[in-house]
Order: sequence, then C-alpha cells, then structure tokens
Amino acid sequence: MSNRNAEFFEQAAKVIPGGVNSPVRAFGSVDGTPPFIARAAGTRVYDEDGNEYLDYVGSWGPMILGHARPEVIEAVRETATRGLSFGAPTRAEIELAERVTGRVPGVDMLRLVNSGTEATMSALRLARAATGRDSFIKFTGCYHGHGDAFLVQAGSGAATFGVPNSPGVPEAVVRETLVAEYNDLAEVEALLTDNEVAAVIVEPVAGNMGLVPPDPGFLEGLRALTSKYGALLIFDEVMTGFRLAYGGASERFGVTADLVTLGKIIGGGMPIGAYGGRRDLMEQVAPSGPVYQAGTLSGNPVAVAAGLVTLDILLKENPYGYLEELGARLEAGVQATIDKHGYPASVQRVGAMSCVYFHTGPVRNWSHAAESDTKAFGRYSTGMIKQGIYLAPSQFEAGFLSSAHTEADIDRTLTAGAEAMAEAFGG
Ligand code: PMP
Repeated sequence: MSNRNAEFFEQAAKVIPGGVNSPVRAFGSVDGTPPFIARAAGTRVYDEDGNEYLDYVGSWGPMILGHARPEVIEAVRETATRGLSFGAPTRAEIELAERVTGRVPGVDMLRLVNSGTEATMSALRLARAATGRDSFIKFTGCYHGHGDAFLVQAGSGAATFGVPNSPGVPEAVVRETLVAEYNDLAEVEALLTDNEVAAVIVEPVAGNMGLVPPDPGFLEGLRALTSKYGALLIFDEVMTGFRLAYGGASERFGVTADLVTLGKIIGGGMPIGAYGGRRDLMEQVAPSGPVYQAGTLSGNPVAVAAGLVTLDILLKENPYGYLEELGARLEAGVQATIDKHGYPASVQRVGAMSCVYFHTGPVRNWSHAAESDTKAFGRYSTGMIKQGIYLAPSQFEAGFLSSAHTEADIDRTLTAGAEAMAEAFGG
C-alpha cells in the first residue's frame, strides 16, 4: 500500500488547524494519520494514492444510498447548470419540505438551514421563545453540534478529545444547560421539578457516544414528562432521520416530539440541516413570527436537489428491511467473534447504525461508554484500516451501513474484524 497520507497530513497541518476541517477526522484518538480521500463510489472510498477502503463512515451518516449514486450526481449536475444560489425561494424547496412534513411524525412545517449545528441552535431558540423559559436539558454523551449552549458534556469529537467544555464558551451561556444521564428518567424528572425548563433535547438513538439505544419506555417517558412540566421535547434526528426508518426514530419508536432537527441524509451529502415541528411553534419563526433565524445559502438549490432525489429513492426502494438484515448479519458476526474468544467487548445496533464497544456492555449511557478501553479500540481501528476497512476513528462514534453494502462486504468485514480484534487484545 503506497502511503503519502502522512505527508499530506503534515502539509495540511501548516494551513488548517490540526490538518482537518472537523476534529474527529484527524485520527488523533487512534494514533494514526487519516487517509486523504480523492473519490468514492458505492461502498468504497479511495485515497490520493489509490488505496481502496470499504467505508462504514458514509460521510458520518448522509450516504445511505452509498457514494456517488448516479441519480443524485445527475440531479446535482443538472441543477448546477441552472445556477448555484439565488437567495430567493425555489419550487424545489417546497417539494423537499413536503417530503418531510408528510412523513416525519409531528413535523407540520420545516425550515431549511445549512448544518445540523444550525438546526439545533435554531430549534433551541424557538423552544426558549415559545415557552418563555431559558434552561434546557441535554444528555451526557449526546452531541447536538458545536453551538455554545450544547458544548457541555457533549459526545462525538468533544468526548473523543476530552474537552467537554470548550474554552471560549462563556459560563453565562451554559448556566442554563442542564445535564442528565441518558436513559435516566428519574434524573430528568428531578431537573424538571427544580427548574423552569424550556426543552429536553435528545438523540432518540444516541450515535455520538458509540451507539446507545433508548431503553424501552425512555422516549415515551420523556414525552410524558415534558408534557407534564410544560417543556418541549426536541428529537435531534440529524443522524437518525431517514436512517432508522423513513420517518426516523420518531416513526420507528412511535413517539412524536414537538420539534425535530434534521440534517445529513436530507441533503444527500450536500451541506444542509433543517428543523421542523408543530405548526403553532414553527409559525413563531420569522418572518411569520418574531423568532429570528435566517441564512444566505439556506435552501441552496444544489443541496435541495441532492436531498430530494435521495428521499425519492428511499421512498421508492424502501431499503430499511434490507438495512436491518445487513445490520443483523454484521451484529451476529461480531458477537460470534466476541463470544468465541471471550473478549471484553460488545456490539450494539439499531437498524443501520452500530458500534463495537471495547467494554463488556451493555452500554446504556455515557458513564458506561467512558469505561471503554479506548486504547484497545485504537489498535482495532488501526488493524481495520490496514485491511482496507474504514471505520470512524473513535470509540465514541457509530458506524453506518448503506443500501449499497452487500452481504459479501459484511462477510469481508467480519473476517477483517476477527483479525483486528485479535490484534487489539494481543491474541
Ligand atoms: N446533531 C447530531 C445528532 C449529530 O450527530 C450532529 C453531527 N454529527 C449534529 C447535530 C451536528 O451536525 P453538523 O455537523 O452538520 O453541524
């Protein structure tokens, strides 16, 4: 395998902080150098040296149809020839909003933004405005983008790099951020009793501390408690939306939030985000209401075109059953390796999202996830990349399947995984 990645990384670090434009890409927590990606197709990504990797990152979630799906690329190409941005309304935006409002439970109206971070920031502002309350509850190990208010005991890169409270976030801003342990309804109720809470924001399946499913009754409990105490329930479905079902975790678990944040898949790989919810709430957003939120490139025609085709293909092909089968095959295979050798590891999965913990499990919250052997994970991740399997380079990230993955891909991954795990545990 030729490898100029270390050279690129050194060059990049001179002009880009840490050599990357988003922290977890740096492979810092697994002691490696990131491959510099030149192109991708289907389930494969290729680095600048032409090395091929079987991809389970999927651009951190958006690529549910696999990379460079021809219909999506064609839509982008065709739309781009008609102009890249107008800063004015377009018909395609109506279509995208209709695709979402028709199908995601509780979403009567939708506002497009440019990232998941913008979506959660905007939804929180709306929740605070609508309730006239300032504080909100988030869960340890959940990540809701890098907005100041959310950077308290956050997951994903913030957890990976051990900076739960970033310098530069004023204490005054996070004073109203209350934190509970995931899957702990008693803690949530205590906070709701003691504080005037505007909203509870939650990843309905937590994908930023590995992969932690909600305990049975947890989401229903949050729904009941928020209603009881006059707080809004925000499902952050940036990762789970259109992935765990077409209507996201809301559909899969049959629980309807007041506000939902989206991103990733709805842009088909182009930068996008969205927040939506009950009509009476969304009508409070400017210009129909007083809650200000705006964006020069919001509803960008190229991003919207990529998202529309992606959602249409998801509707037409309905890959969710297939993704479930593939996921089950992956999960069973990893579990078999763990059982065979008695490794102190576990595998957790919901649909097309999964994670191998270097922890005996079950991992139900951040306290458990944080006990994982991240050094062993690092050795495993390095072992996988050496065998051409591209995983998120952190214990605290989920892996994503796409409808382009095949059973043969899974089987190859399981073989590589057994070897990498043996290396990780010094076998
Ligand atoms: N919410 C969740 C649940 C996420 O997983 C992410 C990003 N992975 C975000 C918000 C932030 O999205 P973005 O990176 O597009 O700002």
